[in-house]
Amino acid sequence: MDLPYRMYYRLKLIVLITLLVINAYAQSDDSLTISHIYAFALAHADGYENLKYLCKKAPGRLAGSQAAETAVNYSFDVLKNLALDSVYLQEVTVPHWYQGDRAEAKLISPVTGTKELSVCALGPSVPTPENGITAQVVEVLSFEELEKLGVKNVEGKIVFFNRPMDPTVINPMTAYSDAVNQRTQGAKEAAKYDAVGVLVRSMTTSLDDFPHTGVMRYEENINKIPAAAVSTQDAQLLSESLKRDPNLTCFLNMNCNDHGEKKSFNVIAEIRGSKYPDQIILAGAHLDAWFTGEGAHDDGAGCIHAIEVLRTFMKMSIKPNHTIRIVLFMDEEMNQSGGKTYADHVRQSRENHMAAIESDRGGLVPLGFTIDAPDQIIEKFIAFKKHFLPCYILRFEKGYGGVDINPLKDFNVPLIGFLPDVQRYFDFHHSANDTFDKIHIRELQLGSAAITSLVYLIDKYGLE
Ligand SMILES: [Zn+2]
Repeated sequence: MDLPYRMYYRLKLIVLITLLVINAYAQSDDSLTISHIYAFALAHADGYENLKYLCKKAPGRLAGSQAAETAVNYSFDVLKNLALDSVYLQEVTVPHWYQGDRAEAKLISPVTGTKELSVCALGPSVPTPENGITAQVVEVLSFEELEKLGVKNVEGKIVFFNRPMDPTVINPMTAYSDAVNQRTQGAKEAAKYDAVGVLVRSMTTSLDDFPHTGVMRYEENINKIPAAAVSTQDAQLLSESLKRDPNLTCFLNMNCNDHGEKKSFNVIAEIRGSKYPDQIILAGAHLDAWFTGEGAHDDGAGCIHAIEVLRTFMKMSIKPNHTIRIVLFMDEEMNQSGGKTYADHVRQSRENHMAAIESDRGGLVPLGFTIDAPDQIIEKFIAFKKHFLPCYILRFEKGYGGVDINPLKDFNVPLIGFLPDVQRYFDFHHSANDTFDKIHIRELQLGSAAITSLVYLIDKYGLE
């Protein structure tokens, strides 16, 4: 090899080593920042304390309720105190359905005796007549079974949907999806065969005494009949009682009611990007919660995760290149009007969103993120994975983003769902068991840190 060639190779080697060193520094630099983000989250209890306040002062903050208004005002104040570039409210028209103060049910049988059942209204169920309804009960596990029974076996009866969430399915979210049509569609399906009401087994894998509520849908031109959730324990009891006395009756009395529409708000706050202020990285969650509990895991924890992203950036003096915006959406549970209103705003303003992250699977131990985006963008996220290994965040995979951010799909925004360990999520979900004491401070903090770290990396490297 002659001299120029030797020099050329030597030079090439030097360049290569330099690049490797720079890359290693950049990597260790990022890993260091992420370890600082984690340390910050684990050293501060502000988020935990704010969640406590939200749960205790605004429990059952269903859209349109007084509690929802309290939650809007409170989170607005918390964000105002962070000295961000802007904090504002976005008006949203929400449904105003009220659960009432009466939801009672009783199993009546000369064979098995009388027993109160633990029930609550599904939203937005119609009320029963003033003095309730008493009717025979017919148990089914599917709509096919209901169809086979037909009008002659269903007319004038209460249909009891009792298909459990399958406990053998490893992902409880999948088991939920497989069972939830009984809750969402049960009343309208039963009404087709002239049923007078429905009782739906609660959507939970745990055997407990809490009715777990949730949304249901009526259909135009199909009779609206009252719909209630019954606790899994009482669903078992009712099923066993029906075997002993097929002629038993149930009494159902609820005074829930629809009060039309109301004005409410999404709460929005941001730190403006120093280089690309017109490009937004969004972190969101929903502020509303069902009337049954305190909305600690669903989705108070998610709101805290989002707020903590901004707090961490501010307190650690991380100056983002892009605008970091959080949205606390109103009315995810009933009509998703907050998410739709936000997407309408994006359509009109043509604002550019680089990515949107949603936390709506509880404040449990973080595992990773599910990503709803084309494969080449998912590859970008997988490249971030190495920075998360010391934090035990291992899962970056294709999957669902979130209900509130989903309308942003129309604008090709990559959607990311925060993924914690959801094995216990349905113990709390939509029930009186979703209370602040079920939140573990470290698990909540780790979630905030994981989401903040991801926002930091997206901001630094982009997704192009
Ligand atoms: Zn939720």
